[in-house]
Amino acid sequence: MNQEVKPSKVLNPSTPWTDRPVPGIHVPDAQETLKASFTEPTVECPECHSLITLTAMSFNAYVCPQCDEHLRMRARERLTWFFDQVDHELGQEFIAKDPLNFVDSKPYSARMQEAQKKTGESEALVVLQGTLKGVAMTACAFEFDFMGGSMGTVVGDRFVQAAESAIAKKQPFICFAASGGARMQEGMLSLMQMARTSAAIEKVKAAGLPYIVVLTHPVYGGVTASLAMLGDVHIAEPKAMIGFAGKRVIEQTVREKLEEPFQRAEYLLDHGVVDQIVHRHALRDTVYRIVSKLMNI
Ligand SMILES: [Zn+2]
Repeated sequence: MNQEVKPSKVLNPSTPWTDRPVPGIHVPDAQETLKASFTEPTVECPECHSLITLTAMSFNAYVCPQCDEHLRMRARERLTWFFDQVDHELGQEFIAKDPLNFVDSKPYSARMQEAQKKTGESEALVVLQGTLKGVAMTACAFEFDFMGGSMGTVVGDRFVQAAESAIAKKQPFICFAASGGARMQEGMLSLMQMARTSAAIEKVKAAGLPYIVVLTHPVYGGVTASLAMLGDVHIAEPKAMIGFAGKRVIEQTVREKLEEPFQRAEYLLDHGVVDQIVHRHALRDTVYRIVSKLMNI
């Protein structure tokens, strides 16, 4: 009870009784409150520039509460959000090699280590199996922050293993795509993954199991040209950019200015490339509904 109180506050008779310090109770002043609020990490919405606390964002599935912009979700966070319960992870035994000893401005191995440190993931694809509303599913998600979610041999290995495991367990296969395309540091080997993953998807379809693709911002290059466009159903998140070559490359080639919403999900919906655009808050319900219809659950 020997709490130090400011004498001016106690002695000044004009201080209203509500402002007088109570022994044993610490009331933070305005300055301290301000400091406390600044310690919570915030995320800036790239669209409306509101500062939203990380907690509020993660509770809202990384959809901006101010303007409804869909921010990027980390692969692992995306899958744990998608599933009600995660049973296990696949593909962690595959580790990338550097068969070409590729060096651009940095060696490939150094880039790899950097990406691993940045994301906490060993590769650009995360595969988890779990249940959504009681239905067992296999789902994979691309980690865009891992070298642009690029598809190398390990991504191919993990994807094929996921497809085979889905077939063995008779589960639907869901893919959350977000990628810049094939990984140039692996040259031809990364391009071969386009054929490998396409063949694996064919096996899933031959087994009569649904393969559903959720296109998240952005999906480009070799991933668009293979596994991201072979789904039974293509769902896109609002405003996601989806294409093969980037907008600037096309503009330089055709010498025409391409206006918004070119390559946006809404444009692709109008042109029949995607089947529906689903708000992230409705995504789990939508995938569940589609899967249960296709599998007669
Ligand atoms: Zn916003």
